[in-house]
Amino acid sequence: MVAFSDEHHMLRRLVRDFAEKEIGPYTVAWEANGSFPAHELFAKMAALGLLGLEYDPAYGGQGADHLCTVVLHEELGRVGPAGVALGIAVQTDMATPSLHHFGSDELKQRYLVPALNGEAVCSVAVTEPDAGSDVTALRTRAVRDGDDWVINGSKHYVTNGTQADWICLLARTSDEPGYGGLSQIVVPTDTPGFQVQRRLDKLGMRSSDTAELTFTDLRVPASNTIGTPGLGFYQQMSQFQNERLALGYIAVGAMETALTRTADYLKVRHAFGRPLIDNQHLGFTLAELSARLDMLRQYNYAAAEAYMRGEDVDRFATVGKLQAGRLAREIAATCLQFHGAVGYMEEMWTARFFRDSPVWSIGGGTDEIMLYVLSRLDGYHA
Ligand SMILES: Cc1cc2nc3c(=O)[nH]c(=O)nc-3n(C[C@H](O)[C@H](O)[C@H](O)COP(=O)(O)OP(=O)(O)OC[C@H]3O[C@@H](n4cnc5c(N)ncnc54)[C@H](O)[C@@H]3O)c2cc1C
Repeated sequence: MVAFSDEHHMLRRLVRDFAEKEIGPYTVAWEANGSFPAHELFAKMAALGLLGLEYDPAYGGQGADHLCTVVLHEELGRVGPAGVALGIAVQTDMATPSLHHFGSDELKQRYLVPALNGEAVCSVAVTEPDAGSDVTALRTRAVRDGDDWVINGSKHYVTNGTQADWICLLARTSDEPGYGGLSQIVVPTDTPGFQVQRRLDKLGMRSSDTAELTFTDLRVPASNTIGTPGLGFYQQMSQFQNERLALGYIAVGAMETALTRTADYLKVRHAFGRPLIDNQHLGFTLAELSARLDMLRQYNYAAAEAYMRGEDVDRFATVGKLQAGRLAREIAATCLQFHGAVGYMEEMWTARFFRDSPVWSIGGGTDEIMLYVLSRLDGYHA
């Protein structure tokens, strides 16, 4: 059993209070708006030390352990909406891990510090119109010119993309085939040649903005390269592990809320002269889903402990996200169904969760890619 300390429990209360006060009440407005005010919200989170829990205090982080990250995301997922939890996780666990692990001190001072103190919003840009699952197919190119990179290309589906101050960009920096020709580069969005082409209209996660971005003869110093040129693919794969773990933690919180709310509803809704929950089929189904959620939660905790021991968590992150995606979609569909017609109404959280849930099976690598990774890890494929 994972050992959460008093500090972890205190953090859980802090995040829960924060989310219930600063996020929950704005759900409808931010979903309607297509984004949440990231600068405003991140400034409030930074004041509580919530943006850089595990990061080095030298750059404004808290130097806390990974269980704190678990607590943060479970609670953000629990309160919702999932789009806001996603946008926050991009800032804390998807766009910044590479910079923290591999970036130079100077780069961290310039970009990580403002991301952790809430002044800068950031994004990670990997996916392109013709390169999603197959990251090695990406075409955005950075060409060396003196001390600069000159960048041309486009990126799709970039979370926080309309609000970002800087982007962790994965670009092709050499003609070397396969995995070797890619690098991660920090691109400030106030650089000439950067453009937000449009904010994309999504089925769900509507409180999170998702953008299509272009880079035209955009010039940044070569010193903006994160880590080693040519090792960007491997660095991004490592960053994906943080992303997949965080998505799994958020999903557990969101599913817990969905099951609790559905049980509460079935206790007060009557049919055939008794509360709906008295129908064994309904109660048993919720119990079954709750049991599977327990298994996923404990799996996540085992993953977190392995991460803290410094072990390779590739398999944990892959299995956890795969199962989170599958279970989230099943729980979302069941909760909507058990509410009947009202569950199908736009004003109900069930409709929102039903629309949000497929993202866990697409973002950060699809279910099929998780199976591809897993089948290779387990030796079913070369
Ligand atoms: C809400 C949202 C937010 C996102 N945020 C970001 C972000 O911030 N930054 C970013 O870079 N990207 C982001 N993405 C993009 C996401 O990472 C990609 O959509 C995902 O990696 C899949 O790529 P694709 O959409 O191009 O699908 P494709 O690669 O075109 O795949 C299409 C289908 O084919 C399947 N498939 C592909 N290859 C195989 C294979 N070898 N075997 C079996 N099946 C296969 C896929 O699983 C999928 O079902 C976001 C996406 C969404 C929906």
